[in-house]
Amino acid sequence: MLSFSQLVCCLCLLFFVVFSKAEPDFSLLNISVDTERLVEDLKILGQFSDGDYPGITRLLYSKEDKAARRYLIALFEQSGLSVSWDPVGNIFARWEGSDPTAPAVGSGSHFDTLLNAGLYDGTLGVLGALEAIRSLKKAGFQPKRSIEIVAFTSEEVSRFGVGCVGSRYMVGSLSVEELMKLKDSEGVDFDSARKFCGYTEELGSSTTSDDRYSAFVELHIEQYHILEDKGIPIGLVTDIAAPALYTVEWKGPGGHAGSVPLNERQDPFLAASEFALSLEQLILKDPTNSRATIGRVEVYPGSAGAIPRSVRLSVDIRDINEESRTKLKEQAMEKAASIAQKRKVKMDISHNYSYPPAKMDPKVIAVMEDSCRKYNLTFLKMISRPFHDSLFMATKFPTGMIFIPCKEGKSHVPDEYASPEDILRGVEVLAETLARLSYL
Ligand SMILES: [Zn+2]
Repeated sequence: MLSFSQLVCCLCLLFFVVFSKAEPDFSLLNISVDTERLVEDLKILGQFSDGDYPGITRLLYSKEDKAARRYLIALFEQSGLSVSWDPVGNIFARWEGSDPTAPAVGSGSHFDTLLNAGLYDGTLGVLGALEAIRSLKKAGFQPKRSIEIVAFTSEEVSRFGVGCVGSRYMVGSLSVEELMKLKDSEGVDFDSARKFCGYTEELGSSTTSDDRYSAFVELHIEQYHILEDKGIPIGLVTDIAAPALYTVEWKGPGGHAGSVPLNERQDPFLAASEFALSLEQLILKDPTNSRATIGRVEVYPGSAGAIPRSVRLSVDIRDINEESRTKLKEQAMEKAASIAQKRKVKMDISHNYSYPPAKMDPKVIAVMEDSCRKYNLTFLKMISRPFHDSLFMATKFPTGMIFIPCKEGKSHVPDEYASPEDILRGVEVLAETLARLSYL
């Protein structure tokens, strides 16, 4: 004898099997996410680490990364997905839709980590997408467009000093020539490391076509505490801020720390310091959207008894608006020039890189909103300050991001944590969104 809830499930299953080619009635789609299994998968993936658990270290193309890749591929295959990869090791796991030639719906994130980092950053988006597919399969759903998980190679700026390697390669923002020049701190080049990890095919340009995905959705922990503070379970990202990185170098004649009076010095360190404080003041005038960070300072020769002869600063400026970011950079550099003149030191600016900020696709956001409403989940439309693979996916494909809270906003640390309840909600919204997008 079937219980009432079992009967409802059977009817739903029957509905989706019979009407799989027609537009389904999504109010009947009954998704039940197995959070316990997902958390277990996350913990197992976390064991592929070169460090003490719970701190996780899984650098690109390391032996831990290689083992994690084997584990992911096995999980994808066990779930009946067809697995492939590209020459940089982006892994694709596809659930074939009833219209397999139509552009697919993509979903995924990264599975590499920084040194001694957490369990959920990136991996939630990979294994969460897998759990979304498993729960859709269990509900008897048949996608029209194929749904494809992308497990991106190396989003973190760790081993080779470049972030979002996989997504940038896919969309053509990182060329083969640039990849071939990369070396890690031990002098191992990108190509040798790639081959060590089993990707021995020739490294040509990406063959990802412009219509590979009709939409792309990334589930991710927020990595800050806005959602937690407001008690809101879901964040829907509208914009991703992007960085522009510059190096500012200051030079002076140096001199003896004992003999040269302070009013006669041309001290590049003091000029750089004045610049750092003026940059802070510039941002504080309108702190809403812009961020500026001096994260690296190199003082030469670095002797306690000598006035420095040169100082190099990294200046990272971020905004969701490229024009505002450029304006800010120009104001900062004008200030730098006037400080250099006043302090009689030379100043030189070089541009390292700039990525364009991304707008998430309004249609994808609308589908995510409908999905939240179905589960009676409140959501907050918000900006992502950290960037993700979606920053680059958005340059080619309509993209959206779902955020869930993480405890105290902590990320990139061993005690990074997302609760099973929040994970459940995130995967429900993701699964519903992927299902709906597969019919749009
Ligand atoms: Zn991440």
